[in-house]
Amino acid sequence: MSEERLRRVRDRVRPFPDFPEPGVLFRDISPLLKDPVAFRTLIDLLEDHVRASFPKIDFIAGLDSRGFLIGPPLAQRLGIGFVPVRKKGKLPGPTESISYSLEYGKAELEIQSDAVEPGQKVVIVDDLLATGGTMCAACELLKRLKAEILECLVIIELKALKGSEKLNSIPFYSLLQYD
Ligand code: AMP
Repeated sequence: MSEERLRRVRDRVRPFPDFPEPGVLFRDISPLLKDPVAFRTLIDLLEDHVRASFPKIDFIAGLDSRGFLIGPPLAQRLGIGFVPVRKKGKLPGPTESISYSLEYGKAELEIQSDAVEPGQKVVIVDDLLATGGTMCAACELLKRLKAEILECLVIIELKALKGSEKLNSIPFYSLLQYD
């Protein structure tokens, strides 16, 4: 993986102090989405990583909402489908749902019950891993559908929060790491 390509992506992640609340350093990927060369490079890097790691994948599952910006273009590149994991109340039909703790308060995620068949191989994507609570909840939903989770994949990992430890034995990969 070339340092030059990684740098092109890293240069388009913009830090915003005290958003959405005091003390949080928000990592904004809007400049990455705005720059077609950098965004293509991001998808190239993710595609290279996934192709090199897994001979067969059935679906990319993406987390509401910034996982929806990365998941579908990656799935298209790989020639596979995309499955949304959404915030509560957005998906029609039978769903599995799970509530989980955020730093302040609670949230709920859902997946359609027929989104994947038992044994299908899934890579879960999001923009960023902080405490790992959101990714853990998504893993639990996919486990309930008896999917085989190959990996949790993010652009950005906030190392100091140790979110990847929460994922236990599920493989995890991040392109960019910040302390
Ligand atoms: P967590 O459940 O704590 O791992 O938080 C991950 C989710 O919250 C991801 O969907 C991120 O988009 C969002 N998030 C958490 N912290 C940040 C941050 N510092 N900058 C940008 N997004 C964040």
